[in-house]
Amino acid sequence: MNVWRRLSGPRRALALAGAGALVAGGLVTIPVTAAQAATQCDIAYTTNDWPGGFTANVTIKNVGDALNGWTLGWTFPNSSQRVQQGWSATFTQSGSQVTARSLSYNGTLATGASTSIGFNGAWSGSNPKPTSFTLNGVVCNGGTTPPTTPPPTTPPPTDPPPTTPPPTTPPPGTKVDNPYAGVRGYVNPEWKAKADAETGGSRVSNNPTAVWLDRIAAINGTPDSSSNGAFGVREHLDEALRQGAGYIQFVIYNLPGRDCSALASNGELGPDELPKYKAQYIDPIAAIQGDSKYSSLRIINIIEIDSLPNLVTNTSGQPGGTAMCDTVKANGAYVNGVGYALAKLGSLGNVYNYIDAGHHGWLGWDSNFGPTADILKTAAVASGSTVNNVHGFITNTANYSALREPYFKVTDNVNGQSVRQSKWVDWNFYVDELSFAQAFRTKLVSVGFNSNIGMLIDTSRNGWGGSARPTGPGATTSVDTYVNGGRIDRRGHLGNWCNQAGAGIGERPRANPETGIDAYVWVKPPGESDGSSKEIPNNEGKGFDRMCDPTYGGNARNGNNPSGALADAPISGAWFSAQFQELMRNAYPAL
Ligand code: BGC
Repeated sequence: MNVWRRLSGPRRALALAGAGALVAGGLVTIPVTAAQAATQCDIAYTTNDWPGGFTANVTIKNVGDALNGWTLGWTFPNSSQRVQQGWSATFTQSGSQVTARSLSYNGTLATGASTSIGFNGAWSGSNPKPTSFTLNGVVCNGGTTPPTTPPPTTPPPTDPPPTTPPPTTPPPGTKVDNPYAGVRGYVNPEWKAKADAETGGSRVSNNPTAVWLDRIAAINGTPDSSSNGAFGVREHLDEALRQGAGYIQFVIYNLPGRDCSALASNGELGPDELPKYKAQYIDPIAAIQGDSKYSSLRIINIIEIDSLPNLVTNTSGQPGGTAMCDTVKANGAYVNGVGYALAKLGSLGNVYNYIDAGHHGWLGWDSNFGPTADILKTAAVASGSTVNNVHGFITNTANYSALREPYFKVTDNVNGQSVRQSKWVDWNFYVDELSFAQAFRTKLVSVGFNSNIGMLIDTSRNGWGGSARPTGPGATTSVDTYVNGGRIDRRGHLGNWCNQAGAGIGERPRANPETGIDAYVWVKPPGESDGSSKEIPNNEGKGFDRMCDPTYGGNARNGNNPSGALADAPISGAWFSAQFQELMRNAYPAL
């Protein structure tokens, strides 16, 4: 992961989520009468289950009068069912009765508006869905998700046989709006085995992580490589079927002249090898993913990490720019390669493409934000592709940018100075990944992408918990003391990207966490190195980038700051036990 930042032009105020009024929902039952505000609601409750545990996503749609504060209630059908850790609401449970109260920012719900909350829970025996919900004491009649219990075997004689499948199960070949919603993700057994071999690793090893197809040989499996397993694409897909997974994630990562501005993840293809990329890499992957045997799986492809933004920020003439980025820009290798991948893979009915879109510490300046959106659009319509082959975008892949900075906002001022003037923010328009991803989504729609695109955020290593995590804002002596004292991202510079000391595992993967965000995902498998801390000869094309060397004092791209990398790291993709242990120690939410 690389960054380059540009000082931006005039100051711009950004409206972040405004605080809505908090109205505590009482336990008073509001009778529905014509004279009174009518509360009415439609609840979609979906879960992702595994033995003993589950993640639930609950979408509350207000189909009655506008609400200013809400309390959702339900009763678990099975006495073992428990809410353990919730988000986007305050959860309490008494016996089997659960109450979820709105927070300051999501209590206001206009007529027709929806909001999603969720939680991780526990169960034993079975995990049935609640059959009834109340909102502010009124039973929701707007409809609930279909119960999981099978329908009676003999339907009443007047019932016509169902002609269309229920909306959550579209016919094969029809793409769902959010492939992560309501289904369980594929757990890569090769990553899981490495995580399980670590003390305490079983606390995280059941999470879905992406399978990186980082060389042609990975298509059929590369038993002899240090960073990939013996499983090829088929073995992973077969295993996903065996697991009963609903979705599986691959990273398409092998462009000609890959990683043009850094060295740690240089690949096997030279800058002129676009024909080989198409014929020997994309075509065989498409052939396997298109096999009808796998049509029940939602196959998600993360397309070419770090590629297109490099054409905007890292060509020569820019500080830290490289000749390789010039070459792949001039010969069209990245734009046409991405276009080809999108067109080939996107034509498959159950395959979903999400293109990499950097992160806020790279693209959050106006000089990079708009031009990157434009080049993403150019690639999306290159090589015969159309924007319909793009389901969404991912930010923060393999990076460490915090999802939220709870103790300062981009609109804050200290002693009359904007935090944007602080050294850390350096005129960026965004101070965290969530606000960036949501704003970039809007920008992408404005340049011509479909209005229903969704964003993903890689949260595998952006937790920043542990003892060094600030618990409140910094001192208001200056913008720098305020930002540096309060920021949870403890890197020396936002441009640092390799094996960052002090990082922790972030949010666990889950669907629909926030508006515009299809899922939090773990694309970079925690424990896999970003690059070696010293030169290590290898036959994988991996170079040595000094940003992975803890003794390096940095370069123009990280403001000449120390690299912040951990010592004794193996080559990119190889297992790095010490990092995995630190990531678990500093997990936030804690494990
Ligand atoms: C490496 C890949 C590896 C991936 C996931 C990348 O930086 O270049 O070889 O599979 O990280 O760990």
